[in-house]
Amino acid sequence: MTTSEEPLANLLFEYPGADIILRSHDAHHLRVPKSHIVHSSPVLDELIKTTLDAPGDAHEALLPVLQLPESGEILHNLLTFIFPVIPLVPSTTEKAMELLSVAQKYQMLSVMAYIRYNVTQQSPPPTERDTALHLYHLAQKYGLRHEALQAARTISKHPMNIEDLEDELDMMPGASLYELWKYSEKVRTILELNLTEFRMSGARDTLMGLHCVMSSSSQTTGWLDDYIESIADAPILFDLIEFSAALALHLEDDSRDDSCACGSIPTQTIRNFWRALESVVDASFKEVSIIDIHELLKKLKSLQAESALSLVQNQEDIQSKVNSTTSLPEPLDVSDANLIIRSSDLVNFRVHKAVLAMASPFFEDLLSLPQPSDSESVDGLPVVQLTEDAELLHSLVSILYPVPSVIPHSYEKVLYLLAACQKYDMDEAQSYIRTEANRWPRRFLPPSGNTAFCAYAIASEKGLILEMECVARRTLDRPMTFETLGEGLRLFQGSALRDLARFRERCRDNIITCLKSFLQVDAPGPSSIWVGCPSASEPQRNKPVLPIWLCEVLSYEDLESQVFTHPLPTPSGIRARYLTAIQTHDDCFFCLRVHGKKGSSFISQLEKMLKHAREKVHTSFL
Ligand SMILES: [Zn+2]
Ligand SMILES: [Zn+2]
Repeated sequence: MTTSEEPLANLLFEYPGADIILRSHDAHHLRVPKSHIVHSSPVLDELIKTTLDAPGDAHEALLPVLQLPESGEILHNLLTFIFPVIPLVPSTTEKAMELLSVAQKYQMLSVMAYIRYNVTQQSPPPTERDTALHLYHLAQKYGLRHEALQAARTISKHPMNIEDLEDELDMMPGASLYELWKYSEKVRTILELNLTEFRMSGARDTLMGLHCVMSSSSQTTGWLDDYIESIADAPILFDLIEFSAALALHLEDDSRDDSCACGSIPTQTIRNFWRALESVVDASFKEVSIIDIHELLKKLKSLQAESALSLVQNQEDIQSKVNSTTSLPEPLDVSDANLIIRSSDLVNFRVHKAVLAMASPFFEDLLSLPQPSDSESVDGLPVVQLTEDAELLHSLVSILYPVPSVIPHSYEKVLYLLAACQKYDMDEAQSYIRTEANRWPRRFLPPSGNTAFCAYAIASEKGLILEMECVARRTLDRPMTFETLGEGLRLFQGSALRDLARFRERCRDNIITCLKSFLQVDAPGPSSIWVGCPSASEPQRNKPVLPIWLCEVLSYEDLESQVFTHPLPTPSGIRARYLTAIQTHDDCFFCLRVHGKKGSSFISQLEKMLKHAREKVHTSFL
């Protein structure tokens, strides 16, 4: 194709003196003088040199052509920041981030600064948390450290916990969320240190005109001390309006000392104080930096590898196993094997097509296709390359043959094995593994505590619904916070974390309903047997009341608000509460008699109902 034949629509940009054509991946042409490009980007400089050195076929219509992987739109935007024309600022934040990432890739430092300036002119950095979260997510996606930090700073001023973020939990991968949480934690720690130091030493110098009762522990007055301290916990309070509110509250306080002259602090004093505080807060944020984006992306990739089993193998192991061939354990005869399946770490397994096809409709289809003429073979046997590693394939193959089956010794590895069965439609093998893995004595402890959160993340990513259901329930016995999730947060994909949070809230609601039914005093309610305890608060107009100790056993007052920060009540936990309470109430003959006669059936029923309340909630996937 020559330039004269080029449809005009394909020409996006033309600058006088053009001597090179940049071609986008969607076949748009941009004709430019290369001197400008070479000057602004060392990477494009190299690419242009290579193009010019290449033999003829890259040249079209006498001008050399440099093929680039970006779209015409993005390249067009980019060029308007290189040439002295009116800059085209992208219309959306996402496109602006993409443009910046392209400029970053081509190492155009001054162009990046110019783009940033223009983008900020069009839309200033967000102060709202949700907008900042969106920006942070985009910045992570496009590898833009400056933007990620800027957004993280805004976000970290707000509370960073599961209940506050619940609706936003599916906005970004767990790995990004984890970095954000770590950043937030660091900000708070450093702010606390620096603000304490400021209270102890720096603040006083800025407050020369302030007359009030001085705090004994520091050099400022009590209310100001409290205000400065509160910023470390909630950096959002670093705001002149919040400061004025704290002052107003102090002035309304009737108990304040006669010497207090806080109502007439000179404006200049406030200004000096504020400037000093601002520099402390700014410096604290600057001290914190998030993990390098590239490091983060690398980690993310390795965690999302097809099989986590391969994580435990290092490069040397893989090298030593290259092209080794593994057979099944004796006495199985695989001498007439007619297929090789190869693991991701290059171990060959000799198997029979018929065995594989019988267990898996996936392989049945695959093996019924004619074999491509250029496909690889070993000893005359065709090779099928799979993405699972050798350890996993060894387990999988052992299940298909009449040999002792090799079930992994950790719950996580069983999850990956089940996921492989799911992928290859091996339903029977999957149920066999489920049965074997749960057979007594157990090969491994079922996931509990933090491992339950990790197992949930894996099961959710692999679409293993039965395991999600079972593991989700196990997470209820632990708090669900960023602290308890820790690095496990990185494993969560898409909406998994939000779904788990909602599941937990539904369980809580059920438990609350169950406990309320036990607070009913009227028969036939199970608690009516307790009506009559003389220590119960004075009955009003013969209205029956429950003993105080029982009300305490049944009331989890903060359950509503502490759903994420505390474990949910368990049947055994409530039995323990009941027994402790009745023992401390041992001077009441009425209650002891009821306990002796009907106590054990009462507590059994309570346990049963609570268990039922926890179990009738399903994850939303069934
Ligand atoms: Zn005062
Ligand atoms: Zn009593």
